[in-house]
Amino acid sequence: TSREAAQLFQSDPEAFEIYHRGFTQQVGRWPENPVHRIVRYLRRRPASLVVADFGCGDCKIASSVRNKVHSFDLVPLSPLVTVCDMAKVPLAAESVDVAVFCLALMGTNLQEILEEANRVLKQGGTLMVAEVASRFEDIRAFMNAMGQLGFKSVSKDLSSAFFHLLEFAKTGPPRRRPAPG
Ligand code: SAH
Repeated sequence: TSREAAQLFQSDPEAFEIYHRGFTQQVGRWPENPVHRIVRYLRRRPASLVVADFGCGDCKIASSVRNKVHSFDLVPLSPLVTVCDMAKVPLAAESVDVAVFCLALMGTNLQEILEEANRVLKQGGTLMVAEVASRFEDIRAFMNAMGQLGFKSVSKDLSSAFFHLLEFAKTGPPRRRPAPG
């Protein structure tokens, strides 16, 4: 769970460093890094939009766009990071226009995490998810569950063999809890 990850990385900072080195190497082998897609997307939209980057890593988004970006991670790789568990971020309800999870939806409590994203997003706000393609067992079931969590699909790009890029809009608060899994 995200809480266990927070405890692990707090008690063993080296584990975080090793994780991040591995992550950077792995994504470096991909033809395209999804974080660049998200930066391009944000640059096409007004710079006045407030962004929350859940699991920001080294803050590529905050350092590449003019928007106000709240950057959350378990360990500060950059001074721009607010250290917290992404299941409980220090933001007011309905205070952000765009929530981003770029290769960061790894907590087994992802439902709780997505409910937190729903809480901080304004009505009609955008949720961007980039996730490793092979992690999706059933994309239709995932999209249905997202609907129950208060997100409707706006666009989905499944063309990369490495990652899926999904854009949602917040339709309202979570309607009911989707089936586990
Ligand atoms: N979004 C960045 C980094 C992705 S790596 C990029 O695309 O470059 C995934 C990041 O999520 C890691 O930095 C990891 O520490 C963070 N993360 C994982 N679980 C988290 C949690 N529960 N709360 C906050 N950050 C978390």
